[in-house]
Amino acid sequence: MQSYSLLAPGKINLYLEIIGDRRDSFHELVMILQSIELADRIDLKAGDTQKITIHCNHPQVPTDETNLAYRAAKLMCDTFPDVYANYGGVDIAIEKNLPVAAGLAGGSTDGAAVLVGISLMWGLGLTQPELQELAAKLGSDIPFCIGGGTAIATGRGEKLDSIPDLDNLWVVLAKYNNLGVSTPWAYRTYRQNYNGNYISDTAGIKTKSDRVRTGSLVKAIMRKNGAEIGNLLYNDLEKVVLPAYPQVEELRTAFATTENLGTMMSGSGPTVFALCASETQAQTVAKQVRNKMNHPDLDFWVTKLSSGGIQVIG
Ligand code: ATP
Repeated sequence: MQSYSLLAPGKINLYLEIIGDRRDSFHELVMILQSIELADRIDLKAGDTQKITIHCNHPQVPTDETNLAYRAAKLMCDTFPDVYANYGGVDIAIEKNLPVAAGLAGGSTDGAAVLVGISLMWGLGLTQPELQELAAKLGSDIPFCIGGGTAIATGRGEKLDSIPDLDNLWVVLAKYNNLGVSTPWAYRTYRQNYNGNYISDTAGIKTKSDRVRTGSLVKAIMRKNGAEIGNLLYNDLEKVVLPAYPQVEELRTAFATTENLGTMMSGSGPTVFALCASETQAQTVAKQVRNKMNHPDLDFWVTKLSSGGIQVIG
C-alpha cells in the first residue's frame, strides 16, 4: 500500500438561486459552481492502528469525528469493511490553505480528497460517478468537489451537469480572518424571510413561480465572455448575509468601486470575490481594496479559475 498526496481545490459560486423548500430541511437550489486553483493539501497514509486520525495545521479546524475528512474516511471504512480490516487505520494530514467557514467549500473539498485518496490507497478503482454517489451521502458540495471545473448543480447541490470549463479568468478573494458565517444559519434565515416567494407545492417541494435565470450565464460561460459572466453573477444568500454583516457589505461595495468583471459573495459567505480578466488586473484590484478598507483583519488571495477537481500529486 502506498501513501498519497492530493490537492483539494476550493470553489466559488458564480450563481446561487434558492428555488424552493424541501421537507428534509434542505433547499432546492440552482447553482453554477466553479473550481479555483487555491487548494488544501491532503496527505494520506495507513495508520498504525484500526483508527482514523486527523492532523491539521489550522487551529480552527476540528480534528475529531466532525471533520469532513474524518467522516469521508469513516464512510469508506463502513462501505468497504473487509478492505478496511485488511489495511488497518487511515492517517490524514490536512494542510489548510483555504480560509475556514468562508463559503469556499473548504471542508467539502477535504472530504472529496479523502474519498479519492482512499479509493487509490486501497486499490478500489472507484469511478468518478461511484465516488460522487458516495460523496452525496456526506454533503451537498462534495460530489462537485470530486471532479471540479465548471458545473450546474441542482437538487440540494448534488445533481451535477458539466458545462465547458471556464479557466481563463482570475479571481480576488477577500475575507475577514476572524469572521465565519454558518451555512445552516444563512439558509434558515433565508427561509424565514423569503418563504413567501414559493407558491406551488408539489411532492413536498415548494418552488418559485418565476423562471430560473441561469440560461444567460451558461451561454456567457460557453462563449468564455468574462464581461457578460461578471454582469450575470448572482447569489440569493447576499439578501440575508449582507444586512446581518455590514462589514461584508462594506467590502462588497469596496470591490464594486474597482475595475473588475463583476463582484459577488461566494456561497453563504463571508468571502467576497471579484472576477478579473488577468492576474495583473486581479493584483491591482486586491491592492486597491486593501488600501481602501485598510483593515488589519482582512486577508486577500489572488487565484485562477481551475478546470480540475481533486488532483493526485504524489
Ligand atoms: P461550504 O462552502 O461547503 O458551506 P465553507 O467553506 O463555508 O463550506 P468550511 O471551511 O467547510 O466552510 O467550514 C465550515 C465548518 O466546518 C468549520 O467551522 C469547521 O468547524 C467544520 N469543518 C469540518 N471539517 C472541516 C475541514 N476539513 N476543513 C474546514 N472546516 C471543517
